[in-house]
Amino acid sequence: MHLNHLLALLLTPLCAFGAFKAGAAKRTVTPGLKSAPAYIAGFGNGRAATGVHDDLWARCVALEAGNQVVLCGVDSIGLFFDDVVKIRQLVKTRYPAAQVVVAVTHSHETPDTMGLWGSQSGVSGINEEYNALVVRNTADAAIDALHSLQPARIRAAQADPPSLKQFYDDSRPPFVIDSAITAIALETPKGARIATLIHWTNHPESLGSKNTLITSDYVHFLRDEVERSGGATCVFLNGAIGGMMSPLGAAVKDFETGQPAPKDTFRFAESVGRPAARIALAALRSAKPINADALLYRETEVAIPVANKNYLMASAAGIFKGRKPMGGDPPVTRTPVGLFTISANGKPAVQAAMIPGELFPELSLGQISRDPNADFPDAPLEPGIKPDILTAPIRIVVGLANDEIGYIIPKAQWDRQPPYTFGAAKQWYGEVNSVGPEAAPIIIQAIGALAREPRR
Ligand SMILES: [Zn+2]
Repeated sequence: MHLNHLLALLLTPLCAFGAFKAGAAKRTVTPGLKSAPAYIAGFGNGRAATGVHDDLWARCVALEAGNQVVLCGVDSIGLFFDDVVKIRQLVKTRYPAAQVVVAVTHSHETPDTMGLWGSQSGVSGINEEYNALVVRNTADAAIDALHSLQPARIRAAQADPPSLKQFYDDSRPPFVIDSAITAIALETPKGARIATLIHWTNHPESLGSKNTLITSDYVHFLRDEVERSGGATCVFLNGAIGGMMSPLGAAVKDFETGQPAPKDTFRFAESVGRPAARIALAALRSAKPINADALLYRETEVAIPVANKNYLMASAAGIFKGRKPMGGDPPVTRTPVGLFTISANGKPAVQAAMIPGELFPELSLGQISRDPNADFPDAPLEPGIKPDILTAPIRIVVGLANDEIGYIIPKAQWDRQPPYTFGAAKQWYGEVNSVGPEAAPIIIQAIGALAREPRR
């Protein structure tokens, strides 16, 4: 065999087998507020941070079984693929074979890393120094996690009790809620915890649009609860949070008194985060170790036509500061779609679809509703990622992974033209923050193709 061919083979991520190892590390990504104002992302313009309630974090778990894969959860509204590529390049300088997934928690109380929430409309809110800090510290956390790899075992559990439904106010029909919470424990062979990965699906925006303190929102309390219980480093990943998986407007009860939790307060955020964590931890208690012996992360890049004129204008006006190029005729945005699989005894045990934005849960669960007033009422229904594409006992859909392209809406529910779906008098919220109607079919098709590829 020619040496180049051998090298190419060695560099191709095959489903290599090997002893299972895990490591974890975290770095703060809290903004300094003295030298420049930090505009808080997620609601309106001109929301300058006045202080810090809790540190923001880049937290990573590194996993190895033949291949090395690092999963990072970063407290940020969104990181464009351009910044994720920079993180990957930094990690590659130390660990050339490691594959890195960067998913943001999407907290709406963190600095604007995308440019949409600057001092005023039309002015980019990106502070390049801050984005560079997030890139550097996330890469350092990933490198530290790889550095700390040690022999490990893995346990995983999923729970979806009715009590989790209280944390949602779904403002757009069909009322589909993906409330399942997943806990993955990484432990030494003797059972000492190395890290706990928690995956849940909800907008971290409990503090509302008026808060000016930097915080990771309910995620802070959720991780704190896990870490206080002996969970070691807790890494949080969010899910299919589009259309609209949010605690805003939900009748959340105070986690201690059972009385209604006051809106737009840290007590409200705490009353979301702690009970959710306890449900995950309770499920984890009875989970048995999985004989994990292989890892596979595959990623493909797709080109999605950009139908959203505001996105094109923002890109042209430099709001993204050179990120998210939308070239071509018609213009497209390129974005990564990934599939991560942990296998045991030749079968997938845990699978995570990596989605580059805010997927409507109808697409995660396969519960799309047709309405004759939709713009494409006869569009084929995309298969549900969890019921129809993934096959492992533990299936998760990670949102805002490696990119943030906005809402990803089932094509059959896409609705910009009146009359509106589900009897609405005015246009639904969602399409205005979406690339376009082709995002869902293209991304779901890509996940399906990755899942069908042979695993070796
Ligand atoms: Zn969102």
